Amino acid sequence: MTYVPAKLRELIIQRAGGCCEYCRVSQESSDISFQVEHIIAVSHGGKTVENNLALSCPRCNLFKGSNIAAADPQTDEPTFLFHPRRQQWQDHFRLSGAIIEPLTSEGRATVFVLHFNDQERIDQRELLLQFGQYPCA
Ligand SMILES: [Zn+2]
Repeated sequence: MTYVPAKLRELIIQRAGGCCEYCRVSQESSDISFQVEHIIAVSHGGKTVENNLALSCPRCNLFKGSNIAAADPQTDEPTFLFHPRRQQWQDHFRLSGAIIEPLTSEGRATVFVLHFNDQERIDQRELLLQFGQYPCA
């Protein structure tokens, strides 16, 4: 993992309001520290700068890894993953209860690669919903 200076980390965490910028779970509701991740991975030439960094929960970050694109599961066309700095979450996803529904090809590719709707993740978000802790504001 590439070193992100403490000041920059803090800025990314504050900018995200402590929310995973992919699945909208809050750091507050998690026992495990969220990670500042490179949207375009360092191995793909991504830089450690504000507009290439996002706050991610450990699950989203684990599945995303260095991925930046995938086949759209509906069309099989290559498509980039959701880019939290250049795109708005609500333009690409919507919530149906605790299920994250994709609205676009980027949304579909991201839901697939990041395993947004694995049953255990839906169950976790369902529980948070019941306690008024999801989605992260
Ligand atoms: Zn997440």
